[in-house]
Amino acid sequence: MNFHVLTLFPEMINDGVNTSITGRAISKGLISVNAVNIRDFAGNKYGQVDDYPYGGGAGMVMQPGPVYRSYESIKEKIGYKPRVIYLTPQGKVFNQSMAEEFAEEKDLVFLCGHYEGIDERVLEMIVTDNVSIGDYVLTGGELPSMVMIDAISRLVPGVLNNDVSAEFESFNDNLLEYPQYTRPAEFMGKEVPPILLSGNHPKVDEWRRQQSILRTMERRPDLIKDANLTSADKKYIRSLEEND
Ligand code: SAM
Repeated sequence: MNFHVLTLFPEMINDGVNTSITGRAISKGLISVNAVNIRDFAGNKYGQVDDYPYGGGAGMVMQPGPVYRSYESIKEKIGYKPRVIYLTPQGKVFNQSMAEEFAEEKDLVFLCGHYEGIDERVLEMIVTDNVSIGDYVLTGGELPSMVMIDAISRLVPGVLNNDVSAEFESFNDNLLEYPQYTRPAEFMGKEVPPILLSGNHPKVDEWRRQQSILRTMERRPDLIKDANLTSADKKYIRSLEEND
């Protein structure tokens, strides 16, 4: 899977993705991250890529020409019109099911804004998806694009050592993951739940499922209505409600 990031700060992207799991995935050739400097497409000797907003107001706006030309360079290189994600606080809020959908693509282009944003005309021409990483305003689209690259790449086969770990974690099935424990079995007087030491795998699975449900109800009750609950899950929820 190839990620192409259109940005004024390519070093930020390169520094961010070349370590840990994404860094290893790049070395193994499972993903590639190509940071394209929009300034290289400025078309003037000063490298100017922004200007004052028409109609007045604070800040600067990124000009359409350099953004369009940097996008065209990717399109020509890969030979087709890719999906282009504009990172913007005005977009649909990113979540795990969007990550799963984007992970099906061969190439993804991320367009990072800066300053007050980007001239609307070029956005209308090239952007296929407007995506936000949450209801707050950041200085640029670089961190949001890295958040998305991280979440999407761990769904690419082979990126995680153990494919099962992506399968059973938070947001799969609209449930949060159960609590995790490792050695030692006792830490400062607090013991690991005894069921996890029992070796009884069906019982461990049942306990984990119930913990997932409990945790989701406590921490993210908004998710539970879309969870795929079995009749055993519903029975467990009823027993919780009865004991309330
Ligand atoms: N004036 C813009 C507005 O009110 O919608 C905000 C511009 S923001 C200061 C600069 C850039 O940061 C945006 O163009 C976008 O690329 C990025 N950005 C800021 N917050 C973001 C968020 N929550 N999610 C995704 N991108 C964001």
